[in-house]
Amino acid sequence: MLKEPRSIPKYLFSPNKMFKTILNKLYNLFLDIFSPKYCLLCLNWNQNYFCQDCLKKINFEPQINCLICDKRLNFDSTCQQHFQPIKKLISFGIYEENLIKEKIILAKNSGYREVFYDLGKEIGERIKSFNWEGFQLAFTPLTRKKYFLRGFNQAEALAQGIQAVLKLSIFTGIVKIKETKDQAELNFEERKTNLKDAFKLTKKPGEKILLIDDIKTTGTTLMEVAQILKKEGAKEIIALTILR
Ligand SMILES: [Zn+2]
Ligand SMILES: [Zn+2]
Repeated sequence: MLKEPRSIPKYLFSPNKMFKTILNKLYNLFLDIFSPKYCLLCLNWNQNYFCQDCLKKINFEPQINCLICDKRLNFDSTCQQHFQPIKKLISFGIYEENLIKEKIILAKNSGYREVFYDLGKEIGERIKSFNWEGFQLAFTPLTRKKYFLRGFNQAEALAQGIQAVLKLSIFTGIVKIKETKDQAELNFEERKTNLKDAFKLTKKPGEKILLIDDIKTTGTTLMEVAQILKKEGAKEIIALTILR
């Protein structure tokens, strides 16, 4: 159960990391099939990992802001100073203030893909009244190594949850080719070189992109990916994260 990070029982421990990862995946799959879900916030049994009562309590509603200066916007307005490469950011609260924060970190570290998929569906429901005509979904990728070790990409799982509601296609052409450090731990100069040549595209994106990540920390990763999407032909990019 998620109150404690899921990991394989100790007697199955193997020093071989790859073997351990595979066992962990199978174990999680087994639990997903046989254990019913409960709300991560109130711990009551529920169909999804977040119940409607709790989401109401924490005011889980879309907030639209400028990615750079955090100016409040609506879906049709733009910050006149900062509209490139990302037109606006949709998020559902501020990281430091939010109760969901700890659950997201726990789910990410314990390999709970479904937590992000469920949140994606909730997010989809809350943004479906906006005009998404012509948009493609995209998500910030992990390197292949990191993907394999974690077993899933939380941004991709979010995108798949959103897709289940909005019925938009997912653009899968962004790849991460260089392992990077956590942007939040670096200074301004290091941040720039850290992400340099870290991403590339393997196919051409659509003109309108909703770019998804789990949490916006410094925003530089979203900006870097958006720059590349722009260079390859995307004209309008809106970013979406659970928290900012
Ligand atoms: Zn609840
Ligand atoms: Zn701004």
